[in-house]
Amino acid sequence: MKINILPKDDKTNGWSALLAERKPKAHLKGDVYADWVVLGAGYAGLAAARRLGELHPDQKVIVLDAGAAGENASGRNSGFAIDLPHNVGSSLEELDGSHRFMRLARFAIDRLDDLVQTHGIACDWSRDGKYHAAVSPKGVIQVLQPFAHELTALGEPFEWVEGAALAQRLGSSHFSAAIFTPGGRLMNPAGLTRGLADTLPQNVTLYEHSPVVGFDNINGVELRCPEGSIRAPKMIMAANGFSDQFGFFKNKLLHLVAHGSLTRPLTQQERMAYGVEKPWGMTPANAFAGITMRYTNDHRILIRYGLEYCPKRRFDSKQLASVRQKHQDLFDARFPTLKGVTIEHTWSGFVCLSQNAAPGFGQLESNIWSAVCQNAVGVTKGTFGGTLAAEMASGQDHELISDMLSLGQPSAMPPRPFLDLGVRSRFAWELFSNRHEA
Ligand SMILES: Cc1cc2nc3c(=O)[nH]c(=O)nc-3n(C[C@H](O)[C@H](O)[C@H](O)COP(=O)(O)OP(=O)(O)OC[C@H]3O[C@@H](n4cnc5c(N)ncnc54)[C@H](O)[C@@H]3O)c2cc1C
Repeated sequence: MKINILPKDDKTNGWSALLAERKPKAHLKGDVYADWVVLGAGYAGLAAARRLGELHPDQKVIVLDAGAAGENASGRNSGFAIDLPHNVGSSLEELDGSHRFMRLARFAIDRLDDLVQTHGIACDWSRDGKYHAAVSPKGVIQVLQPFAHELTALGEPFEWVEGAALAQRLGSSHFSAAIFTPGGRLMNPAGLTRGLADTLPQNVTLYEHSPVVGFDNINGVELRCPEGSIRAPKMIMAANGFSDQFGFFKNKLLHLVAHGSLTRPLTQQERMAYGVEKPWGMTPANAFAGITMRYTNDHRILIRYGLEYCPKRRFDSKQLASVRQKHQDLFDARFPTLKGVTIEHTWSGFVCLSQNAAPGFGQLESNIWSAVCQNAVGVTKGTFGGTLAAEMASGQDHELISDMLSLGQPSAMPPRPFLDLGVRSRFAWELFSNRHEA
């Protein structure tokens, strides 16, 4: 089978631009045999490869990626490792679902805490928690109040912050109220992804800049790259949205592009005017109309806004320039005291969702397992999905596999062009009907 749509690095990732230069691992040359092959070196693939390496110390595990570690979506996100569902439901069944998600997410966060500490991964890993903020009184009533109610039902600690107190913590009076939860982590995601890639067990080999252009599964898996190939009896698919190119989850993955920007660091004088010392992270009450923001350890502001349907998985520099202008306008409106602070980096990344928010986890064929479709919460979901896919493929009876399977499977979507019409009009409606949260 020929792989038609390949990932492409447009070299705009702002997070990796803040890090020291890294020499990527060699690309695949020649024909290689391994016991296991993992396709994709994002959170899911790196977690799967690490766990396979740990479970089978005498076997050879290979990870392949089209690009360099940290330049993919895993290295381009907003850097939140999230431990709570964004919007908790109120029925007993939904609360039970929330408990399962939290068990999985905390398993992933514990694992990442441990890896960052053990290997000294330089990624600004911090326990600053996060604010979930509403702009309008309507957002407070429709989202924050029910969220507070459900957190109470779940027995989760939180703090309600509003008005002047919130303005003082964020350095912006744009928001009416927020719920602060202490459990998540913040990081430079490119630093984390690089660190995970560079500290794999010694029986795991990562090949970077090795796009898979051909795939077959006859008497074992064969993955063909431009200058070599890999044969392995067993594979874990961790190419997220690109897994449909391999014939998996066809018509079940919705391809989206999301954008982030980082300002230049604030000067000493600007920091005095800003008046906030502690780094913070904030997710919006409405994911379409609102913006995700952070104040980073190195005194930059992150803006993450815009989620568009993008089945081609390409976004050109002209489109990116208009995103940057939009992000600058959003920044200026929220931080009028920081006039003159400009955006230094703007980038895009490709994510995928399923219609029913279920992950693409489990066994696909007798010798292929998957950990894809993180529904845009990939730091934790990719980490637990990848780890548990390796456990499952190795025949281990891990207690969390049943929690994972209870999240369901991606449901089928209508074919294109009906899908395109449906998604575009739904997104436009979400933006319009939640404009009070902009
Ligand atoms: C702007 C933005 C902000 C976000 N913010 C957050 C956030 O704060 N927190 C959070 O949890 N999530 C966030 N996300 C989502 C998160 O980044 C993704 O869910 C996560 O990266 C998915 O991880 P993954 O390992 O499944 O896939 P990816 O990181 O996409 O990795 C898949 C890998 O497969 C490789 N691949 C695909 N096809 C081939 C091929 N043919 N040959 C070889 N290699 C191939 C790709 O190169 C890629 O490296 C954000 C995403 C974006 C874009």
